[in-house]
Amino acid sequence: MGPLNHVLLHPDRRIGADLERWVNVSRGGTPLRMAGDDPVRVREQVRFAELRGLGGSGFPVWKKWDAVAAESGKPDKWLVVNGNEDEPGTFKDRMLLEETPHQVVEGALIAALAVGANRVVFYINPDLARSLASLKLALEQWQASPLLPKGIELTLLPGSGHYIGGEETAAMEWIEGKFPFPRGKPPYPAQVGVHGCPTLINNVETLAHVPHIVMNGPEWFRAQGRNGANGTKLYSLSGDVLHPGVYELPMGTPLRELIFEHGGGLLSGKPLKAIFTGGPSNTLLTPADLDVPLDFDSLRARGGSLGTGAMIVISEGTGVVKRVAEYVRFFAHSSCGQCPPCKSGTATLSRLLDRIDTGRGTLDDLATLENLCAMLPGSGRCHLLSGVVQLLDSSFRHFHHEYRNALR
Ligand code: SF4
Repeated sequence: MGPLNHVLLHPDRRIGADLERWVNVSRGGTPLRMAGDDPVRVREQVRFAELRGLGGSGFPVWKKWDAVAAESGKPDKWLVVNGNEDEPGTFKDRMLLEETPHQVVEGALIAALAVGANRVVFYINPDLARSLASLKLALEQWQASPLLPKGIELTLLPGSGHYIGGEETAAMEWIEGKFPFPRGKPPYPAQVGVHGCPTLINNVETLAHVPHIVMNGPEWFRAQGRNGANGTKLYSLSGDVLHPGVYELPMGTPLRELIFEHGGGLLSGKPLKAIFTGGPSNTLLTPADLDVPLDFDSLRARGGSLGTGAMIVISEGTGVVKRVAEYVRFFAHSSCGQCPPCKSGTATLSRLLDRIDTGRGTLDDLATLENLCAMLPGSGRCHLLSGVVQLLDSSFRHFHHEYRNALR
């Protein structure tokens, strides 16, 4: 087994929401270094570290930071810490919030100082009761501490409970007190965000890396990765594996190592059939892909996506059509309904899949399914619709025979 790199998942899991313990453990008792003195330098560190958005996008973090830092003239600047984590098979951010919330808060404060934000909102999935409780305690300690930079307001806001609320513009709508309908882009949040003010939105895991980059330097961060990738990544491993869980490993760790060394291989020693990669709104990988390094660029080169880093493993004997039908049903229920092609498209896809999965489907149903997948991409405001089609397309590519065999 390769070495486990504990940067975010600190071996001392008793840190909890204890700020003093966090300072002692992470700094040996020396005061926290904040970015207030030199925000330009901190932005450069994040740029040289090549930190990417770890909530699914893989977007270069420094680009968002520089865009928000360049804005001025509005009463506020916002930073939204996106902890809406709701994708099936993704359960990493909740672990950070429960076990070491202070690194998330510290990362958010450094980011706020680096871009000039004065309003910081921790926007958290309302179903994550333990994450909310731990973060609440952590924030209370920061608010009572002289370590909290002056002029920064911290707010804890449970999200709406809707999957779609994790989309960045939907989060802004909820923060403004409205239903979390995703907005059209442009304008982008960096220019027109919460209440029309410049807004930076970063995922929990992304921000948790920031204190470590500032403390140890970008070269250190880059050296944590493998196969040309940078830093470490939290992979949520689930499905038919012996040891499901959250694994912090070098970004670029091969899929084979994650499943067979860290995850202990498949349950009952069954053969591997497929992996839903990056959360189910992405693509399926097969045993032929086991040596792919798990990082944004390597997966993109294979037509896939790292997404949130969720890996859902399925073994021989599990029906792909059934699994895909379950996920598409979830996404059809999650559609916010404001784009007609998404509302009716996902509902139709789900209905057709259910029919095929239960042995009632016809060749015409399968043809309709495939035609819809060719027509629908790009007709929704947010990624939901394209994600569903991506999932279906990759299942057709690798398991078309299962669809045909399921027809009546
Ligand atoms: Fe809502 Fe779907 Fe449109 Fe996204 S694509 S905004 S989920 S209707």
